[in-house]
Amino acid sequence: MRLAEAFALMSDVQDDVWPGWSRAPADLLLVEGEREYLLRSQAQPPRFTPAPDVAGLPGGVRVRGRSFPPAFLATFPAFGAVPTIVVGTPEATGKRSTAWVLTLLHEHFHQLQYSDPTYLTETKALSLSGGDETGMWMLEYPFPYAAQSAAFAALARRLADLVEAPAAPGPEARAAFWADYAAFCAALDPKDYRYLSLQLWQEGIGKLAAVYVISLFGFVIWVGLLISWLFFSGVKPPLAS
Ligand SMILES: [Zn+2]
Repeated sequence: MRLAEAFALMSDVQDDVWPGWSRAPADLLLVEGEREYLLRSQAQPPRFTPAPDVAGLPGGVRVRGRSFPPAFLATFPAFGAVPTIVVGTPEATGKRSTAWVLTLLHEHFHQLQYSDPTYLTETKALSLSGGDETGMWMLEYPFPYAAQSAAFAALARRLADLVEAPAAPGPEARAAFWADYAAFCAALDPKDYRYLSLQLWQEGIGKLAAVYVISLFGFVIWVGLLISWLFFSGVKPPLAS
């Protein structure tokens, strides 16, 4: 099961990547078919009953009828203050299984960010929640889906083109992009600008952590190759005569 793999990967790498990551909450709700399974959680939301143990997964799994959409994928305080990853299966979320595992790692990094003691007070201080106490405002905030969606999509497309271009963009192309980005931000409602800044910080650091995890694996493979070379260099494979 991919979930067991994701948990194993988390516990292997997290403290190498970010000190204290293993102390972050790891509550997870898996939405599968017509059921949802709550794992690694101390929360007591209604209607859950104990589920039979599954090999490779932690015990104490609880199950109830599905209440989230099957393709849901987000981390937010779903059951009280603790940030919970709510995730559909790889099939339902349209992700290949490796991408799904890495996405869980990314979401688990958000759990670390959200559980920082200052996160709640500081995001509250942005006064974007419109009085919502469930945390859903972070997912349902209208920006950038409302009025500015076309301008924002165009900027995002240009950034992607710059990053994906075969040659690194020159200084003028970069300066032109940042000038347009600054103009876009200046034209935003101050609330939308605060929301954008929050998301850029959150997602930027989350992506950085994922890149670090992948690099760490590259490093492990290189060290393995070096050790193999130390042991086996000069050894001739036995040839059939
Ligand atoms: Zn994210």
